[in-house]
Amino acid sequence: AVVIHRKMKKSGKWVKAMEIVKEFEESCRTPISKLKQVADAMTVEMHAGLASEGGSKLKMLITYVDSLPTGDEKGLFYALDLGGTNFRVLRVLLGGKDGGILKQQFKEVSIPPNKMTGSSAALFDYIAAELANFVAQEEDDFKPTSGRPRELGFTFSFPVMQTSIASGTLLRWTKGFSIDETVGQDVVAELTKALERQGLEMRVSALVSLCYGLLLSTVYDLDILQLTFELDTVNDTVGTLAGGKYANNDVVVSVILGTGSNAAYVERAQAIPKWHGLLPKSGEMVSSLLIAISKLCYLESAVSVGHYYVSNMVYSSSFKFSCIWRILRGSYSILLSNHVSDMGVINMEWGNFRSSHLPLTEYDQALDAESLNPGEQIYEKVISGMYLGEIFRRVLYRMAKEGFFGDIVPPKLKEPFILGTPVMSAMHHDTSPDLKVVANNLKDILEISNTSLKMRKVIVQLCDIIATRGARLSAAGLLGILKKMGRDTIKEGEKQKTVIAMDGGLYEHYEEYRNSLENCLKELLGEEVSKTIKIEHSNDGSGIGAALLAASHSQYLEDES
Ligand code: BGC
Ligand code: MG
Repeated sequence: AVVIHRKMKKSGKWVKAMEIVKEFEESCRTPISKLKQVADAMTVEMHAGLASEGGSKLKMLITYVDSLPTGDEKGLFYALDLGGTNFRVLRVLLGGKDGGILKQQFKEVSIPPNKMTGSSAALFDYIAAELANFVAQEEDDFKPTSGRPRELGFTFSFPVMQTSIASGTLLRWTKGFSIDETVGQDVVAELTKALERQGLEMRVSALVSLCYGLLLSTVYDLDILQLTFELDTVNDTVGTLAGGKYANNDVVVSVILGTGSNAAYVERAQAIPKWHGLLPKSGEMVSSLLIAISKLCYLESAVSVGHYYVSNMVYSSSFKFSCIWRILRGSYSILLSNHVSDMGVINMEWGNFRSSHLPLTEYDQALDAESLNPGEQIYEKVISGMYLGEIFRRVLYRMAKEGFFGDIVPPKLKEPFILGTPVMSAMHHDTSPDLKVVANNLKDILEISNTSLKMRKVIVQLCDIIATRGARLSAAGLLGILKKMGRDTIKEGEKQKTVIAMDGGLYEHYEEYRNSLENCLKELLGEEVSKTIKIEHSNDGSGIGAALLAASHSQYLEDES
């Protein structure tokens, strides 16, 4: 009788746990009809975010990237890439037309967790020190040939409101970062200060500094300029777009699915109402040019603007003339290459999207409430790599409390973020007949050793529910973008190709997620349209892309002589 009683009790627990799974599965459902509603909501929010600042949960940030690499870029460029968990420094040597990327080197370091929540100075000093080390190891065949400073693209994978390509204030931290004092600060200035503390000289690329840049390159020899950088800042989505475009001219959208998630795309300038007031008119261009020239001609004011190198200079009128000529030439090229452009790259910050159509569960709500950024990044919290494993843990914990693992709740299951998405992915992809990978991970990470095959199957099912919902919701987001761009239908007589550059560890390594996303997008678009849309993995677009953007926005002309 005792045995039967225990069996019943056990099966009662099993039934209860299965109810939890079933209920969870039910609230995660993403039928096509729902996904279309999510896509429509995304399109609506995109319009609202472009119409006015603060008009939507979607920031739709203007990036000041108004031209993308053409393939003609030439010279040595550096990039810094601060992402979710890793940080990279890299340099590329670009060969210009037909040359492509001649040579590249990079170094990757993980960010110590204490730097992610400590002080601003500590984080930026850490980054600057890594860059300084890396620059010190520059080999001769990388050395720039012309007398101009090195240019640096800074990929900063967080929401930044920019006022030019060389400045921008941090709106909020996302992912695992939380340093209050940085919010509202100009991240370029923070980095610049840190680089200066490392003995790396910085100069931001603006028209006025262009004068000094050219001036310096004329007056001083390479040695001084060797440690001088010009800095552009871009979001990782924007870098990925640029890197993707460099490889394939049809790239017009980029998506990051990694620790966090986000998308960028190419928008027509007329479709960005909030940009109108910000676009430089040619009149303004001319007046700022005149200001620049007058500053150059009066040493005093030049010094007062802050460039102390200039004070040692011998000033001849022929020299002055050559400077003015070079400025005119430089500005003319800026005018031509940038400001006549009728397109802008928009960093959507889609991670912060939310809609009543999103299938959110009690677990998502609890995760959000206990996160570093409650109420923010709701979409990101259901689709991106930082959170999938944590949702999984939360459901499993709930099941454990109902007795899924026997009478005790495995203590490790109480620890937030103990189950990373890579582990979840490994379990999800377990093809061994007895689900050995699942068993091993449960044992190694959660110290749970007594699972039956039946239990392990349920665990795989859980992974599937969570990953499928995330993947399908990101497909819906993509459909929203394609709709906004008018690329979700085929216009008569047009042979348009749309390529989406994708990057991020989740997309790259979580095969089930990737497949589910791609299949779902096909399903949403229909067979005909699907043929015109392609997803391409943009390998390391964000790092190289930032270097390419620094190159394509360079204010220094290659000396043809
Ligand atoms: C950030 C974005 C970033 C994305 C991918 C998000 O958390 O808000 O700026 O592009 O992660 O790294
Ligand atoms: Mg990255």
